[in-house]
Amino acid sequence: MATALASQDGAVQRRGMAKAITLLESTRDDHRAQADALLTEILPRTGQSLRLGISGVPGVGKSTFIEALGLFLIQHGHRVAVLAVDPSSSVSGGSILGDKTRMEQLSMHSQAYIRPSPSSGNLGGVAEKTREAMLVCEAAGYDVVIVETVGVGQSETAVAGMTDMYVLLQLPNAGDDLQAIKKGVMELADLVVINKADLDAHAATRALADISANLRLHAHHGAGDPHDQATYWQAQVMQLSALKGDGLDRFWAAVTRFKTLQTGNGHWADKRRHQASAWMWERIQAGLKQQFANHPAVREALAPTTEQVLQGSLPASTAARRLLSLFAHFSGDKNA
Ligand code: GDP
Repeated sequence: MATALASQDGAVQRRGMAKAITLLESTRDDHRAQADALLTEILPRTGQSLRLGISGVPGVGKSTFIEALGLFLIQHGHRVAVLAVDPSSSVSGGSILGDKTRMEQLSMHSQAYIRPSPSSGNLGGVAEKTREAMLVCEAAGYDVVIVETVGVGQSETAVAGMTDMYVLLQLPNAGDDLQAIKKGVMELADLVVINKADLDAHAATRALADISANLRLHAHHGAGDPHDQATYWQAQVMQLSALKGDGLDRFWAAVTRFKTLQTGNGHWADKRRHQASAWMWERIQAGLKQQFANHPAVREALAPTTEQVLQGSLPASTAARRLLSLFAHFSGDKNA
């Protein structure tokens, strides 16, 4: 499978990618073992892409923007993969990229690869599969990987945690801006894009001023001296029109500048290292939590102990310690 990923034949490579990603998304234990072996094998060929996170509320223009940007980048010699993180997809029955009418031109292009969100149900699982699919795309030589997410719940944090640069799409009206500011999403953004600037130039200009003031107050992005514009990336805001394709060149110039700056000041590599170790710990926590919940001794004691906590007869922290010691004790016995 790893050989198919490196194939010069586009059709062979595409089939290899689809197979690899299906394997990664499988819940079967033997598949997981194969998937782990595959990831380990391809790892040396990963990490070369620019990983771009893009989020925004439904209707802001994400797919219009990604399609226009993708085609623009392909024109400039890039190969573009688009992945998605949408934890609601298993609930709603369809993912943000599931709709075939989205990104029609890009999805048909030989230099683009588009994969909808996995629908495993919980955010951790969905994010894990997407992060792994990103490695497969990199091994297949895609040099720009875009990870799209909806502006719902914690998915923004997950996407910001797996990409090099995080872009927030906004509508040119204040209500939407306030929402993002309130939720703290704006603080994650390296770049805020006010889309649909063609609709209302006045509103877009006002939004630009409001958001830049907010970014100056809140955003502190990594290494370097904040007073030195040559080494420090200050989060920025720009307007564009995805529908008209107006501003894509300015957008890409900002992304390129971000990369140059962050590579120069060391933050690019630091961030990747930090993301990899944070990811490992996130997965350890999720795995332990699942083992804990499935543990026979814990399962037996969980309901009565919870009831005692609810009734106020047992302190919550004591309850947690008791359950944890059951887990540790019986896990220890098993291994003895
Ligand atoms: P998503 O839900 O965030 O993926 O949003 P879509 O890309 O599906 O766009 C939602 C609607 O906004 C569609 O009808 C688009 O044609 C429209 N749209 C997207 N970008 C622009 C833009 O820059 N200007 C205008 N006027 N409409 C846009």
